[in-house]
Amino acid sequence: MSGWATSILMYHSVSDRGGATSIAPAVFAMQMRALAQSGVSCLTLGDWADLRGAGRLPARSVVVTFDDGFADFDQAAWPVMRDLGIRPIVYLPTDYMGGREGWRGIADPPRPLMGWDRVEALAGQGVLFGNHTRSHPDLTALPEAGIEAEVQGGAGVLADRLGAAPAHFAPPYGLAGPRERAVIARAHVTSVGTRLGVAGQGDDLHDLPRIEMFYFQNPARWQAHLAGRGGPYLALRRTLRAVKGAATKPWVGLK
Ligand SMILES: [Zn+2]
Repeated sequence: MSGWATSILMYHSVSDRGGATSIAPAVFAMQMRALAQSGVSCLTLGDWADLRGAGRLPARSVVVTFDDGFADFDQAAWPVMRDLGIRPIVYLPTDYMGGREGWRGIADPPRPLMGWDRVEALAGQGVLFGNHTRSHPDLTALPEAGIEAEVQGGAGVLADRLGAAPAHFAPPYGLAGPRERAVIARAHVTSVGTRLGVAGQGDDLHDLPRIEMFYFQNPARWQAHLAGRGGPYLALRRTLRAVKGAATKPWVGLK
């Protein structure tokens, strides 16, 4: 089988308010239009997992993901993707839906999250939803029973609301080691992190890397990535992250 590579794009909020977890609506629209025009296959995460299982993934593909379920997903992000035929997955921290972000590292003022009425309506329009725990903790800081309660609890709420258990998971802050991944894998087909890179054939389905779209706000840089010429830039960002990460707490700059 020939090699394949998938860019799993990571977004949080789409708004003009700034900060490392917001992308301006105009920039987001540029990124999505360039994706649609690039000819690279844009897959749902479910289809991606099925094609990977069957050994039939295209050489290059993209999956679009959003963490946290901010209200601006519904208002600013989904209309752009709907018009382009792009079907993303949104990972929800179930205790916070209909309220505001309230976990460590929140923006000021805290941003509102979608209510369940909107989640259910969007599911009917083709948006996928995944599990992002109940209360958005650092899973690696919890005892085993706490991990199970957060992972299985979030899955249970999503199953009740949407009629089917979620197949996909994203750990808060991208933090999950072997112990956490074992719990996640018992109930989910995939799990992503915030490790920067494209997913290739060697990647664990429960530790998939993603592409932080905050780094690709420049149109030429994004087009180069879509054209398969983004390797050197990703390597540079990884190096800068490693330097920064050594000097800061792991959740700084992550969600
Ligand atoms: Zn999050």
